[in-house]
Amino acid sequence: MHCPFCAATDTKVIDSRLVADGHQVRRRRECLTCHERYTTFESAELVMPRIVKTDGTRQPFDEEKLRRGMQRALEKRPVGTEQVEQAVSKIKSALRATGEREVGSELMGNLVMEQLLHLDKVAYIRFASVYRAFDDLAQFGEAIAKLEKR
Ligand SMILES: [Zn+2]
Repeated sequence: MHCPFCAATDTKVIDSRLVADGHQVRRRRECLTCHERYTTFESAELVMPRIVKTDGTRQPFDEEKLRRGMQRALEKRPVGTEQVEQAVSKIKSALRATGEREVGSELMGNLVMEQLLHLDKVAYIRFASVYRAFDDLAQFGEAIAKLEKR
């Protein structure tokens, strides 16, 4: 980055340390041109895309909401908390990996269904029936038939 005093681009790092429980690096720099010193903070950017609903409205990604939705589908099913957490973390990674600033809620729903399918078929059906709002029993039957084939 440019020196904030003279805009020169060459700086020397004279001190570097972890701050904020290791989530940030604080660097003390010295400008090689004007010799002024200044501090920079660096942290990893972990931006989650916003979710675009079918009606076009945008919502920030809400991890708690995602977790609650999955837990609701997994109610009284033999799936441990640790497995749910792993699934949540996989969904977050997949969303980040899109590199998009916004993704459709459909993509989000599909990612959830993919994870639930691995975790528990009953939970998958529960979620899919609500999420996709099956409008007839034939569609619902198709979803079950697809499961039977696996
Ligand atoms: Zn300078």
